[in-house]
Amino acid sequence: MVQRKEKLYLQNALFMLVAHVVGLYGFYVAALGQWRRETLVLGGVMFCVSGLGITVGYHRLFTHRSFKCGEIVQTILAIAGTTAIQNTVKVWVSGHVLHHQKTDKEGDPYNASRGFWYSHIGWILFKDPDRKKGDFSAADHLMEDSWTASLVNFQHEYYIPLAFLFSGLAPALIAWLWGDFWGGLVFAGFSRLILVWHATFCINSIAHWKHWGSRQPYTRANSSQDSWPVSIVTFGEGYHNYHHAFPGDYRNGPYWYNFDPSKWVIFGLSKIGLAKNLNRVPREKIERARSAVLSLE
Ligand SMILES: [Zn+2]
Ligand SMILES: [Zn+2]
Repeated sequence: MVQRKEKLYLQNALFMLVAHVVGLYGFYVAALGQWRRETLVLGGVMFCVSGLGITVGYHRLFTHRSFKCGEIVQTILAIAGTTAIQNTVKVWVSGHVLHHQKTDKEGDPYNASRGFWYSHIGWILFKDPDRKKGDFSAADHLMEDSWTASLVNFQHEYYIPLAFLFSGLAPALIAWLWGDFWGGLVFAGFSRLILVWHATFCINSIAHWKHWGSRQPYTRANSSQDSWPVSIVTFGEGYHNYHHAFPGDYRNGPYWYNFDPSKWVIFGLSKIGLAKNLNRVPREKIERARSAVLSLE
């Protein structure tokens, strides 16, 4: 439901259309059992790489700075995020910061109050006349560390060739090792891409709508929901009500039984010395938020 007069963002719409046609063809061939098994495994691995690149890298590291890590890990996470073709770190981070600052209101790029489909995919297909092009001031924190600044500026400058290289050519060349260049491109490239897109989009749409399995234990200030079904497909990002209440926590699901593979990856990195300063909201503060919400009922 697009309420305002917005122009179709032709470049995005065409690329998404082509990706969906090719990606769905890849799933059709997979359903017929005609891809090599290695290619299917590569698609699964690429899904995890691109998904975690967004959740651990773009989201929990670059946007929320919920932990610290060195140059090599930052670079790997930026490359992994690039494979998800969700725009550059600078664009993604500035949009997401605005989403937290203005949730459900004017200025929230994927404002859920403008309808389910707008928050899922409409905001990518239509140019928002209010959105200022080239304004990354919401992501200024990326420029505080000179090395991080040069990494994200480089990725921003050469984004299209980098995205083509890591998201399309890389899986095709890897699958070429077992003689399946086209399978690598179509299945591990495009089919995997549309899957990871819709998984991420579910956080902006389904995790901002009441649905089966969703709850609001930590805040009722906005539409965000805790949703274990969404967490299953988004490496733990479905605990979105907690995340809106405590965005700086490296965990989205704060309890041990919450399915949050992104927090396990960050915790694992810290255990082998590749991440440090993991932000954890104290248990008492979490419980206070829960009781405050319960007292509203
Ligand atoms: Zn949200
Ligand atoms: Zn966030």
